[in-house]
Amino acid sequence: MNSREVKDLILSMGADLCGIASVDRFANAPEGFRPTDIYPECKSVIVFAKKLPESIFYTNSAIPYSFVDDMALHEVLRLSFDITVKLEQSQITALPVPSEPYDYWDTETMTGKGLLSLKQAGYLAGLGVIGRNKLLCHPVLGNLIKLGAILSNTEFEADPIINGHLCSDNCRLCMNNCPSGAITETGVIQKRCRSYSEGSTKKGTPITICHLCRKICPNRAGWKKSQST
Ligand code: SF4
Ligand code: SF4
Repeated sequence: MNSREVKDLILSMGADLCGIASVDRFANAPEGFRPTDIYPECKSVIVFAKKLPESIFYTNSAIPYSFVDDMALHEVLRLSFDITVKLEQSQITALPVPSEPYDYWDTETMTGKGLLSLKQAGYLAGLGVIGRNKLLCHPVLGNLIKLGAILSNTEFEADPIINGHLCSDNCRLCMNNCPSGAITETGVIQKRCRSYSEGSTKKGTPITICHLCRKICPNRAGWKKSQST
């Protein structure tokens, strides 16, 4: 199976985006969080995404956003499992890399890291660029995407990285409007963001109560709508 056939298979199984990064692109990733730290034989990182419905931007209720975010995570995890089985049936070794649970957690700073930064993997697989809000934004599908990844020991042709900046020189909308002041020029202070955005209903059900940095971005729905995915 070649690179195009793998991506077509993954798209036919329900992913909305798929790209491939060669493992050498992760050379600058933090030690312990490189694909080869998880799977020493890894040659390619296959990254895919599900699109979340944009209608969640049209309500002030946090519940629809929490619902679609949970559903998208569930869908991506299910896809990771199914794609892995399917590729193995074609004699391609594939290892799913779920975004959760975190492999690293610092209680003091409330900083969590998965096995691999899927956002960085998405960038390296040509699925978009990362803005000042630290979200991956695809040129056509925007920033409402949920990422999944699979490591393979097959050397697939890598997709080109999208060069360029998402943010104009003057835009600071996400930074200036973040209610917890979590977004800085150098990154997102996770403790501030989590303390504000991880809430619950009156009954105690966990929900995400803030996604303003997604909503307020002028590129939230992509910046090349006429281009095919
Ligand atoms: S989710 Fe809300 S609190 Fe967290 S960084 Fe975005 S705007 Fe700030
Ligand atoms: S709101 Fe502006 S600064 Fe923030 S990510 Fe979007 S374009 Fe960049």
